This record gives sequence, structure tokens and C-alpha cells, in this order.
Amino acid sequence: MKIIQNFINGAYVAAQSGEYLPNYNPATGQIYAQLPDSDARDIELAYLAANEAFYLWRKTSSEKRFKILNRIAEIIDNKNEELAIAESIDQGKPLWLARTEITRSAQNFRFFASAAIQFNSDCNVMDGHAINYTLKTPIGVVGCISPWNLPLYLLSWKIAPALATGNCVIAKPSEITPMTAYLLGEICNEAGLPKGVLNIVHGLGHKVGNDLVSHPEIKAISFTGGTNTGKHIASVAAPQFKKLSLELGGKNPNLIFADCDFEKAATETLRSSFLNQGEICLCGSRILIERPIYEKFKAFLLEKLNHYTVGNPLLDETQMGAIVSEQHFEKILNYIEIAKQEGGKILFGGEALKPKGFENGWYIAPTVIENLSQSSRCNQEEIFGPVVTLTPFDSDEEALDLANGTPYGLASSIWTNNLQRAHVLASELSCGIVWINCWLLRDLRTPFGGMKQSGVGREGGLHAMNFFTEQKNVCVKL
Ligand code: NAD
Repeated sequence: MKIIQNFINGAYVAAQSGEYLPNYNPATGQIYAQLPDSDARDIELAYLAANEAFYLWRKTSSEKRFKILNRIAEIIDNKNEELAIAESIDQGKPLWLARTEITRSAQNFRFFASAAIQFNSDCNVMDGHAINYTLKTPIGVVGCISPWNLPLYLLSWKIAPALATGNCVIAKPSEITPMTAYLLGEICNEAGLPKGVLNIVHGLGHKVGNDLVSHPEIKAISFTGGTNTGKHIASVAAPQFKKLSLELGGKNPNLIFADCDFEKAATETLRSSFLNQGEICLCGSRILIERPIYEKFKAFLLEKLNHYTVGNPLLDETQMGAIVSEQHFEKILNYIEIAKQEGGKILFGGEALKPKGFENGWYIAPTVIENLSQSSRCNQEEIFGPVVTLTPFDSDEEALDLANGTPYGLASSIWTNNLQRAHVLASELSCGIVWINCWLLRDLRTPFGGMKQSGVGREGGLHAMNFFTEQKNVCVKL
């Protein structure tokens, strides 16, 4: 059995409690590793190490930070297969998908390495009689809390800009998928990251996660996870006036118009519905289809799903792997029951699967439901699994109303060949990210985040660099 340890001050250590939590392989339903059940004492140790390291790290040249972060990226790339296998076993995602996520994790470090040397400041001249310049300084010790769906990718998305801007970090990965975060510790040591600059503390969110957020000396929290958790974190952090970035849940619509490139729209919709078992915050879970092509679109999806392979995540032919945990598996199945009670018609799936040899794992068939009202729970609440609803619409206005009619506002994708319609809708959609004739096409420089209950603040590119710095204006009278 693998024993995961905390990474504090450049060394692997057990939690102060000496206690461990079970870590499951979702493909088999078996415990295969243990992780530390950390608490406030471990956060304090991590804080002391990070605070001491901060004194030197904030004065380390951007050139040196650039080199170390690039070296981390290089080592991640060299270990792609090892890390991808670890991620797939820990999370349940297909190995082929894990490989691309590990590549993207390395890209996060590489991208923010170069941001470290490109990060510039502003200067505002006042009619020739004064100049203002902005100092951007690291905040100090910051907390980065990440979820289980894209474990190393989302952890690196936060850690990399925090380190690039000269902060020291205490990271709290999800207790459901701790493995690649654990492996990152030795990679950072090998890359020459000074001890204490990055500390990784494992354990339960409501326990050690909460201890991290409430620590009085940690001045900023970057959080990605569920909306309810975000609400709680905000209630703890706001009275202490911490800087907060919250990347939360979504209930994203795909708007499919009759004039779209049908084959492309339908194929990408299949991908946006079921990639990573539908466990991506950006997945389209409400498929809105213009009535003239509704039946044809539905038939296309159902035909493709007849050949969909769900099973052992380590096999190349597997399209959908296992659901991350038993608790999440039960939650998704419960939503399918709710859909039935709400009058939904299950067009495909709607049940747990038991692939041969993996009968104890947590698998759910890709599920397509129609005939649900806009106000139904399955059209309003985030399910975060391989479950999508189909709804026809008759006009642009109706599509927009349906798309905007949930408490969430993370992402949307529009499929049409009418340029004017696409741009008008893009400006009217209440969400942080709009894709036109594509999905999940990511440019790391762009603002990333949600409106309404999908979050507060933006990450990515300069937005992340600015979040992790204090900005001070200096005014000089000439
Ligand atoms: P979660 O909120 O349960 O947990 C996320 C992280 O927060 C974990 O590390 C957890 O241990 C920690 N945590 C839990 N309670 C805490 C507390 N009281 N204080 C501090 N930390 C705490 O979310 P999850 O189930 O791991 O992830 C799924 C959710 O994440 C979905 O809602 C999904 O939409 C969202 N998500 C959003 C984005 C985005 O960019 N907007 C990206 C990925 C996932």
C-alpha cells in the first residue's frame, strides 16, 4: 500500500496526528493508498516553513524563478507516463486523457515561468508635472485549494503563478485525488525549488482546508471547487480581508442552431458532454437544440453512444472511465432518479455499469435525458457527471433565456454559421467564457472564471499574476 506524505520545508513528513485516510482507486473500488489526515498543526508547520522561505524567494530574481519553474515543467514532461498512470488510477479518467492533462500541467509551469520575466508595471504621467508608477510585490504566504477532477492540472494552474510572482505557497489538494500532488514534491526538489517555497498539506477539506483558510497570516486564497464550499470559504476569509479567487461550479449550455456545421457541432457536443466522465467544470450539460434539427441531432448522439466504451481507464480504447468516488457515483445516480420523477425521458444510459473484471468500480453509462422543464432540478443544479439534458428551442431569444436561466454562469458554447447571431449572443450570455464553434479551446492568457454562482475573480495570464501581487501606487512630483 502506497503511503502519501505531506511535503513541508522540502521534506516528506507524516501528519502530526499520525493518522491516515483511505485513498481509493475508482476503477476497482479498492483502497490502494493512504494519505495524511492533517490538521491545524500541519498548516502551522507549513506556514513557518513558507514564511521563512519567503524572505529569500521574494528577492530571488525573476530570471532564476523562470529557470526553476521551467525546470519543473521539463521534469513533469519527462515523467509524463508515470504521472499520467498515477492520475488515471487516482481519478478514474482514461489514461490517454491523463497524458494530455499532465502535458498541460507542464505547460502551466512553462507559461507562468515566462510570465515571471515578462510581468511589467504601469506608469501614468500627469500632464508632465508628476508620474505615478505601480509597484507589484508578492503577497507573502498564500493558500491554493484544488478539486479532484483535473488534479495536477488545476493545482499547477494556481501554484505556478503564485510562485512566479514570488509568493510561498501552502497547497491543499483534494483528499479524493492526492497522488500527483504528492509526486510533485520530489519534482520540485529535483528542479531546485528552495525548501519551504511550496508546501503541500493533505487531508479533509472541512478540517485542514478550513484551517488553511482561517490561518490569520495567510493573506490570499485561490480556491477551485464546489459553489457551496466557495460560499463557506468566503464567509471565513472575508472578515479577515483576505484576497480571494473563487472558481466554482457550472451548468453550462451548448446552443446548437440549425445553420451550424452539423457534424462538427454534434461531435464536439458528444465530447463536451462526456469527456472526463462529464467531470469538467466546463462540460456542456444542457444541450439546447433549434427545433428543425432536434430529432436529427438526438439521433446522431444516440447512434454514437451505441459504440461508446466505458471501462478500464488504463486501456487505450476506453472513452469513459470510472466516477471519482462512491459518494459522487451515488450523487449522480440520485440525480438520474430525480430526473425520472420530474418526468424526464431517459434516451440513453441512466444506470450504473459493471464492466467485466471491474465489477466493484464506480461506472455510470453516458446518460441523455429529454422532456425536462427549465425549472427541473436536473436543468438547474450541477450534476458534474456523464448526464446531459436535451431541450428544443424556437428562437434566438428563447435560446438565450434558457441559457441564462440558471444560478450559474461559467461557460457556454454557440454553434452557428451566422456571425452576427454568434456575436450578439456572446455579448448577451451571462457567463465568463463563450466558445463559438468550438469547445475547450484554451489560451492561457485569457481571463478564466465565472459570473453569478460560478465564482468571483478571474485567473489566467496577467489576471493570475495580478491576483498574487499587492499593487502599490507611487506618485512622484516632478
Ligand atoms: P469541493 O468544493 O468539495 O472541494 C474542493 C477542494 O476544497 C478540496 O480540496 C476540498 O478538500 C476543499 N475543501 C472542502 N471543504 C473545504 C472547507 N470548508 N474549507 C477549505 N477547503 C475545503 O469540490 P470538489 O467536489 O472537489 O470539485 C468539484 C467542484 O469543483 C464542482 O462544483 C466543479 O464545478 C468545481 N470546479 C470548478 C472549476 C472552475 O474553474 N470553475 C474547475 C474544476 C472544478
